Amino acid sequence: MAKKRIQHELHCIYCDRSEADGASILPAPDMEAGICIDCLETAANMLGIAETGVPNNEVANRARAKYRTVKPGAPEAAKPEPKVIPKPSEIKDFLDQYIIGQDQAKRYLSVAVYNHYKRLDQPVDPDGVEIEKSNIIMVGPTGTGKTLIARTIAKQLDVPFTIVDATVLTQAGYVGEDIESLLTRLLQAADYDVKRAERGIVFIDEIDKIARKGDNPSITRDVGGEGVQQGLLKLLEGSVVNVPPQGGRKHPEQPMIPVDTKNILFICGGAFEGIEQAIAHRLNSSFVGFSTSDGNRKIERDNLMRHVAPQDLRTFGLIPEIIGRLPILTHLLPLDRTALRRILTEPKNAITRQYEKLFAMDGVKLTFLPESLDFIVDKAIEYKLGARGLRSIVETIMMNAMFEMPTEHPDRFEVTADYCRRQLEAANFDAQAV
Ligand code: ADP
Repeated sequence: MAKKRIQHELHCIYCDRSEADGASILPAPDMEAGICIDCLETAANMLGIAETGVPNNEVANRARAKYRTVKPGAPEAAKPEPKVIPKPSEIKDFLDQYIIGQDQAKRYLSVAVYNHYKRLDQPVDPDGVEIEKSNIIMVGPTGTGKTLIARTIAKQLDVPFTIVDATVLTQAGYVGEDIESLLTRLLQAADYDVKRAERGIVFIDEIDKIARKGDNPSITRDVGGEGVQQGLLKLLEGSVVNVPPQGGRKHPEQPMIPVDTKNILFICGGAFEGIEQAIAHRLNSSFVGFSTSDGNRKIERDNLMRHVAPQDLRTFGLIPEIIGRLPILTHLLPLDRTALRRILTEPKNAITRQYEKLFAMDGVKLTFLPESLDFIVDKAIEYKLGARGLRSIVETIMMNAMFEMPTEHPDRFEVTADYCRRQLEAANFDAQAV
């Protein structure tokens, strides 16, 4: 009597064994049945294949190897695509298309990311040489391109990438988000494909905001500081953590997804405002910038930032264990007038290029005269808006033109400095920006 089988289970039409019984089955086309390897072997014997000199069990083994994983209706297992890791110089070239200046940061990140992916592809080394993970920390004023660099790299590498803000994190048990929720967004970016997420990149912004207040370990509880750093350490070091699939806080009733952080690249960024004093102190030079004119102060600040070292991060309040897990330290410089001017026009998706494209879609040739670009940069500097402010200034200037252009349909439109001035005045931009 045929034994009970689960419906639709692939089975051998000769011996009636199924895959659940451990049989390897060569399926017949479009059927839930086939012939198992053992019956195939018997058939081979009957046909005298053994006389060919190939031992029967080898015939069977070959067949097994070929058909073991084939299930009816299932596509053949996808062959892994050979991965080509771009060289550091190629990564840097790509970054150059989008990010103005910040050469050191771009070079350091290119090398770090290249090494990271080389490390992921490393075969098990018989000599026991294991390349360690190199997470990255970028120090530099806000709006100078830290997020942009991380985002652009992720774009080139086509890996899941997410930006998380360290300020929302608190120590487990306190109001705020658990550390593990940092990885929820990465899982979402990878469509919950855990394996893909485990090779992704997490950009942790505002890492300086979880610095311990002061250099000495506090005896009072430091909910947003050292406790969070200790939690973060676990992720940076590489361990299996339980991630709440919907983020937020962990609830006992919510099933967790275990994620191994060993191969996730963490890039941290922070403005570390005031770190120049720590650098100056270490360099044993007085922070003369405070007593000189504005211009000198800026130069002093820029120069000091170039000397940032791990011990300055410690003075700022990061615990040594965290610093140890962020071995690549690089800095970004404040953007000067020349850099801002270049940001307006040079990057592949520069703001002015975006507007030119928008207008071209209505058949209008838009041109920003050089004087208008200088004016826009002046305004960004005047209101200390930095690179982020460039877009809001251009947006305000172009609002009326964008309203009228699709109906009025001129062939061309030139943006002059005078036009910029009038538009900002009309929009009362000065009052908004102060
Ligand atoms: P942060 O350093 O605070 O992470 P972002 O990378 O978010 O700064 O920069 C904000 C925006 O300013 C970017 O989206 C980009 O439009 C512009 N920007 C900043 N720095 C640069 C740069 N070096 N080159 C080109 N654009 C930049």
